[in-house]
Amino acid sequence: MMQNIEQKLISRINEHATPLRIMHVCGTHERTISKYAIRDIISEDVQLLSGPGCPVCVTPSKDIDFAIALARSGKVITSFGDMMRVPGTMGSLFDARSDGYDIRMVYSIDDAIKIAKDNPALDIVFFGIGFETTAPSNAAATLRGLPENFSIITSHKLMPPAMEILTQDTNVDGFLAPGHVSTIIGTDPYDPISEKGFPIVVTGFEVLDVLLSIAMVQDQIISGRSCVENAYPRCVNVEGNLKAREIMYHVFKKTDSNWRGIGMIENSGLALKKEFEQFDAVNVHADIYDKTSHEKRASEIEDHENDLYEGCICAEILTARAEPSQCPLFGRRCSPEDPVGPCMVSLEGTCYNWYKYTRNK
Ligand code: SF4
Repeated sequence: MMQNIEQKLISRINEHATPLRIMHVCGTHERTISKYAIRDIISEDVQLLSGPGCPVCVTPSKDIDFAIALARSGKVITSFGDMMRVPGTMGSLFDARSDGYDIRMVYSIDDAIKIAKDNPALDIVFFGIGFETTAPSNAAATLRGLPENFSIITSHKLMPPAMEILTQDTNVDGFLAPGHVSTIIGTDPYDPISEKGFPIVVTGFEVLDVLLSIAMVQDQIISGRSCVENAYPRCVNVEGNLKAREIMYHVFKKTDSNWRGIGMIENSGLALKKEFEQFDAVNVHADIYDKTSHEKRASEIEDHENDLYEGCICAEILTARAEPSQCPLFGRRCSPEDPVGPCMVSLEGTCYNWYKYTRNK
């Protein structure tokens, strides 16, 4: 039965296919699209483009460098696993761990807090990354109370401002909006983007979800509409998770934020509010933060404008101006085992997924 519905959707998409560029902004969508070869089973006219949907890919090298500098000065860095292998200008957190510095992988901020409570003589720093999906749990932990020997590098990003930027200078016709982020923010924040003429469909992560949302974007284009539609109602509603957002904005405030490969985007990040600044690693360790910024100028990063190593085209990939196979380093100098750029590290990275699922076709 399910197979039948998928086949019907594929036929429908292909029957109505006209040149169309649909961008998703979610690493898990890229994984589904690559893993199940959705680009191959629908018409070539319907292009599925990958946007900046992978949090570790857009975390600026300055934040990674800061974490490494803190580790070198004797602090304990705690981080999610996929952040550990992303290269900054001074290598990755894994490289620093190989050099003997105390860097520990954690699954949540609660793991990091436990390390702090178990080791009151140590300075514990948590590397807080992620979109609207992870920020509420970090905010909730902060509200419950953090140990005195604990601080956070706040590198959270907000998705709607990035989508807004991508409508300005990319050739995108419509968007698949991220299911996870939308469970928190709801569908309302996408309205201003759709009102500019961009169809948006919020969707989940099964093949059926993705096919349905492609067909729905296509329908909007064909009928000359642009609105926000929800193909993921089993998890997402119009208003989102009010409680999670209340907690998030109790602790964090919006701030301009630097997206690796894209640049500064107004009000697209989160910073700790003044009443929590005693836990802000940038405040607590201001001397090291300032010194890291200075070191960056003498770093190995050659493409300063895009914050990337020479030859890495993650900036083009994150903005759908290129595909991973167009990078001269893809599968040669750059692989998941030895990533040159951030898009090759995480399960959510576009280069990683293309390497894993499309390279040998
Ligand atoms: Fe960057 Fe590697 Fe992707 Fe090329 S293949 S764009 S070097 S991450």
